Amino acid sequence: MSRRILIAGNWKMNMRAASAASLAKGIVDAVGKNSPVEVVLCPPAAYLHTVSEATAGTSVEVGGQNLYPADDGAFTGELNAAMLTDVGCRYVILGHSERRQLMGETDACVSKKLHAAMAGNLVPIVCVGETLEQREAEETEAVIEKQIRGSLEGLDEVRAAGIVIAYEPVWAIGTGKTASKEQAEAVHAFIRGLLADMFSPGVAEQIRIQYGGSVKPGNAAELLAEPNIDGALVGGASLKVEYFAGIIAAA
Ligand code: PGA
Repeated sequence: MSRRILIAGNWKMNMRAASAASLAKGIVDAVGKNSPVEVVLCPPAAYLHTVSEATAGTSVEVGGQNLYPADDGAFTGELNAAMLTDVGCRYVILGHSERRQLMGETDACVSKKLHAAMAGNLVPIVCVGETLEQREAEETEAVIEKQIRGSLEGLDEVRAAGIVIAYEPVWAIGTGKTASKEQAEAVHAFIRGLLADMFSPGVAEQIRIQYGGSVKPGNAAELLAEPNIDGALVGGASLKVEYFAGIIAAA
């Protein structure tokens, strides 16, 4: 079973219209045509349109960083799946640890968003990961299992095959500390086994599991060579063409 490598750039709350457009164009040029690697850019909502325009007609795809799980209506400040697809998104990041920590998102909340994303034809990138305290207390697998079972609650086998999971240890995000390839692969293999148990081994083989947390051009190749690491969700290093292009090249 071959899963196509997925490299996604999570721009978080960075950029302005002009820099977003030039970063997106630079990445389009670096990726070129017929890339074996799938590339997705996830800019802030304010610049989705800009990035969609800059990537139109290319193989580079666009994703949102969040959505609100409801149809149009009285939800001040929010945007839904229909708006994301309308502005050119194919993907959406859900349950990022920053949203879990800063905005109080729970697994139940992520599950609602996941169903809304799929109903709206978006591919969800569901983020999970343990804190340093949890890792040191040897709770990593229990934490990941709870997050995955809760975030994927009510998902059926057919739809499950199309989702993406991002394993992002909280202690590795934006810290410059990457999980070693052995540490990351161990958790990815654990997640694949869990997905096999929740759905089926066949479905688990199809689900792409990205690693995220201080991925850089210098460590991407060894991480991506691991059998259960199917891509990267990149924060800091996705904000510079040469770094992000270096990660794509390493894949
Ligand atoms: P980082 O962020 O690459 O800056 O560690 C990854 C993420 O939060 O998705």
